[in-house]
Amino acid sequence: MEPPGIEPESCSPAQEPPGSPAPPAEEPEPSEAAPAPQQEAEGVPPLAPVAQGSRPGGPGSKGQAKRCGAGKGSRGKRGSTRRAGEEGGRPARRAHVTVDSSKAKTSLEALKISLRQLRWKEFPFGRRLPCDIYWHGVSFHDNDIFSGQVNKFPGMTEMVRKITLSRAVRTMQDLFPEEYNFYPQSWILPEEFPLFVAEVRMMKESDPPWKPTFIVKPDGGCQGDGIYLIKDPSDIRLAGNLQSRPVVVQEYISKPLLIDKLKFDIRLYVLLKSLEPLEIYIAKDGLSRFCTEPYREPTLKNLHQVFMHLTNYSLNIHSGNFIHSDNVNTGSKRTFSSVLYRLSSKGVDIKKLWSDIISLVIKTVLALTPELKVYYQSDIPAGKPGPTCFQILGFDILLMKNLKPVLLEVNANPSMRIEHEQELSPGVFENVPSPVDEEIKVAVIRDTLRLMDPHKKKRKDNQSQLSENSSDTKDDLLEPGSTDQLEHDISKNPEASLPSLCLKQVFPKYAKQFNYLRLVDRMAALFIRFLGVKGTMKLGPTGFRTFIRNCKLSNSSFSMASVDILYIDITRRWNSMGLDQRESGMCLQAFVEAFFCLAQRRYKSLPLHEQVASLIDFCEYHLAILDEKRLVCSRGITERRAALVTCQPDGLHLTPATHAPLLNRMTAANKLTDYRNYRS
Ligand code: ADP
Repeated sequence: MEPPGIEPESCSPAQEPPGSPAPPAEEPEPSEAAPAPQQEAEGVPPLAPVAQGSRPGGPGSKGQAKRCGAGKGSRGKRGSTRRAGEEGGRPARRAHVTVDSSKAKTSLEALKISLRQLRWKEFPFGRRLPCDIYWHGVSFHDNDIFSGQVNKFPGMTEMVRKITLSRAVRTMQDLFPEEYNFYPQSWILPEEFPLFVAEVRMMKESDPPWKPTFIVKPDGGCQGDGIYLIKDPSDIRLAGNLQSRPVVVQEYISKPLLIDKLKFDIRLYVLLKSLEPLEIYIAKDGLSRFCTEPYREPTLKNLHQVFMHLTNYSLNIHSGNFIHSDNVNTGSKRTFSSVLYRLSSKGVDIKKLWSDIISLVIKTVLALTPELKVYYQSDIPAGKPGPTCFQILGFDILLMKNLKPVLLEVNANPSMRIEHEQELSPGVFENVPSPVDEEIKVAVIRDTLRLMDPHKKKRKDNQSQLSENSSDTKDDLLEPGSTDQLEHDISKNPEASLPSLCLKQVFPKYAKQFNYLRLVDRMAALFIRFLGVKGTMKLGPTGFRTFIRNCKLSNSSFSMASVDILYIDITRRWNSMGLDQRESGMCLQAFVEAFFCLAQRRYKSLPLHEQVASLIDFCEYHLAILDEKRLVCSRGITERRAALVTCQPDGLHLTPATHAPLLNRMTAANKLTDYRNYRS
């Protein structure tokens, strides 16, 4: 399924090259609507040394900013009420934010433009002193960084590989099938080949007119590499090296929305600003990539026609029909906003569409973050020096004919190239700017930097609150920016001469609607708690036993011997899948499976997500009690000792009345009541 002459591109860090022109139309949004936690250090005087190794707040958010090149004479004034940027009452020169761009690779051009617009200081060859921000083109591990912020999370590349993403989404589908039906039904081969065959046979038997098509995608592939369509499980190319290069097989969405008879997909940029607390932003405009042959539903005759079925730019650029756009509304790569305008003119409810897309993005991130946290604590254990992280992700979304968005994949390293190759004369190529890419990608990078700006003061004045609230009521995508807000900002802050932010916060903004989905996240917190040794990602048998014991999960009908058997069975099976042989032990997905088993044993009659939620409540309740007991013990206050009958870590007896305030009994008691209500 590969057209001739496809240029190989770096894959795992999925890259995808460029295209043509466009204008966004977006609402004004205060640049610090939700001040980043790292901005809280603003009261710290400019030269305050950075305490390496103290990363308040863990994954992603609360790293202290390095103060580079700020004024002298400010030591020892921590806690002063003086504002940052003032020295001895005089206004100080605003220190530039420093950015190391030496590893930016193909995102370098867009990054340079962004830095020029922000008037930040670029270090294209790196710097001996630490920088505020490190911009990596490919992965977190491009450098040894001990402070500042880096634009990659450890483990993200692994997490968004086709197999890992499918597994993570499937776990969520097991718990919340309705909520996660935006991802096509998928099977991981070779291990699930028999399941694939059996399920397809069953579905065909129960629905004889169903004539499915499947899309086969090699794990770790990108840009359409190695992808092909089949009509029947027996058409899988098993003869190849399936064992060494596993694949994901997916139900093919055969009725996509077409524009000008062409299939297209959407590339949306999503900023994961912080993992803990979770903060997600979505770019208000993205790219639409079009096929170059008119679409027809798959038949045996057209299955191999890549220019009809695959929307990858890297493939379609080789089609004679590819059109480099010279305006926003035409061509093979357009802005998403131009597509939205077109749809809205045909009466499509754009607000509903956006709301579905936002929901898809939040749910997908919720599926990815539990394991990301495992990677994070392994790479940057709490208390050790390390940077905080943020990351721009590329979401590839297909719209079905009925306008339902479907997730195709997530890219950890979406292409940020803003130029494309053009053949001037036969064999002579030149890089030419791509206005569409520049328009979208520079805004995404620049505004990501603005949101991550370590020097930015908290702006909690009423004006910004007001404008944030008022902006919520507008149609985000179709309203032009407010000039009033812009003028107000320019007079206060030179950065305000920039356009309003193209990134819109969606989490925690809409957290209330989605928090009930965070069960795997809570399981991951339990898993991490029992990992024990810093830097590991797998739970040993002792850790698992301690988890069972501390959460009071074993009893006469579930002995510790059964616990060991459960551990061995599940761990062995996961490890035999050969995903990650670096460490032995139980990975998070295996732990989740074990947790499901335990939940099903205990709460037989409930639906799975209620079983799991009940067991999590039960575990958290017992761990909260344990923590409180340990707190009491570690304080070792003599007068309280009298109230304690015994005081051993796991066998403590407390007198509730005496310790009520200390034990924060309400939470624990409420949890117990909830738990009992559930059981009764
Ligand atoms: P790659 O990383 O190689 O680009 P994708 O998963 O993005 O792999 O798939 C490549 C292209 O195949 C997509 O851009 C889309 O056009 C098409 N495609 C992928 N999955 C499906 C699907 N389930 N249904 C319909 N088309 C799909």
